[in-house]
This record gives sequence, C-alpha cells and structure tokens, in this order.
Amino acid sequence: MKVCFFTNLLYTSRSNEFIKIISLKFAKTKATFCNIFWGYFMTIQRTFSIIKPDATRRNLTGAINSKIEASGLRIIAQKRIHMSDREAREFYAIHAERPFYNDLVSFMTSGPVVVQVLEGQNAITAYREVMGSTNPSEAADGTIRKEFAEGIEANSVHGSDSIENAAIEIAYFFTNEEIVG
Ligand code: ATP
Ligand code: MG
Repeated sequence: MKVCFFTNLLYTSRSNEFIKIISLKFAKTKATFCNIFWGYFMTIQRTFSIIKPDATRRNLTGAINSKIEASGLRIIAQKRIHMSDREAREFYAIHAERPFYNDLVSFMTSGPVVVQVLEGQNAITAYREVMGSTNPSEAADGTIRKEFAEGIEANSVHGSDSIENAAIEIAYFFTNEEIVG
C-alpha cells in the first residue's frame, strides 16, 4: 500500500527534485535493511596474533602470513619486535601459576616475534581455527600449528581467545596510529 502510494507519486510527478527526494527515501530504507541483514550474519572483529620465536627463527613469517591471508583474514598492522622479559611475563600473566610459566617466558624472549592485528569476519574464532590446537599433535590437518609447530610450547603462533582479551592485547602492543587498516 505504502509502496503503491510512492510509485503513483513518482509516476505522476514531473518534478526531478521530487523524484530525487522519493528515491533517497527508498535508498535509506534499502541501506537500513542491508545493515540489519549484514550485522546479523557477519561480525567484523579484530584479533591479536603473535608469530612466535620458533617460527621467526625458521624463517616462517611469510608461510604463516600466507595461511592467515588464505583464510580471508586481513593483516591490518604488523611489526617485528623482541619482547622484553617484563612484556612476556605480563602478556602471559594468566599462566603465572602454571609449571611451564618461566619456560614460556624464556621461550617468548628467546628471539624476535611478529606481532599483528588481524581483521575479518568473526576474526577471533576464525584465527583460532587457522592456528589449530595448542598441542600440535592434536591440531587438525592444514592448520598452522599442525604444519609448523615444534611442540606444545614452541607452537609458532598466538591468537586472542575472546573479544575482551583481543582489545587488551592489541592495545598493549599497538597505538591507534599504527593500525592502518
Ligand atoms: P596462545 O595463548 O599462545 O594462543 P593457547 O591459547 O592455544 O595459546 P594457552 O593454554 O593459552 O594455549 O597457553 C599459552 C601458551 O603456553 C601456549 O601457546 C604454549 O606456548 C604454552 N603452553 C601451554 N600449555 C603448555 C604446556 N603444557 N607445556 C608447555 N607450554 C605450554
Ligand atoms: Mg591462550
């Protein structure tokens, strides 16, 4: 009924200005519908990634980035750094009580790492899937850890495990100006 009313008005009017206004009204409705539809099915997220020292040592940065990009995720910020002892301890503070904590800190500071911000649809879960299980012997075929990890500790990559942690981890290593999109 509403559509018929608009169509009739469009048909009978000779004014270009009037047609423009009505067309804009339709465009706005269409855009709103598309936004609701898009937002319901697609969630663009950012996640934080580290290419760990075992992987940089074996010159695997490019191979790992290929897998990330092949999955549809975009590397929107990236830098190669050498983590300090304090940074590694703070970053993995959640594991401070675990028996492997000190070894993990030594490993993460044993060589350069590549820290990255990845963006894409459901990026947090999507990247965890590309990474594979913590223990490479349990990781699915085709995942980064299955193909490249040396063991449960030297497992080549880190990826955030929640929206909250992704935001904290990204802010820990990157300023807004460094995330260029
Ligand atoms: P990450 O946080 O690095 O993405 P993850 O979420 O798969 O890995 P976590 O349980 O958070 O796994 O462990 C953090 C890291 O600690 C692992 O990636 C690995 O490097 C190391 N780690 C975990 N479990 C062990 C273990 N049993 N022995 C030695 N190192 C371990
Ligand atoms: Mg973890």
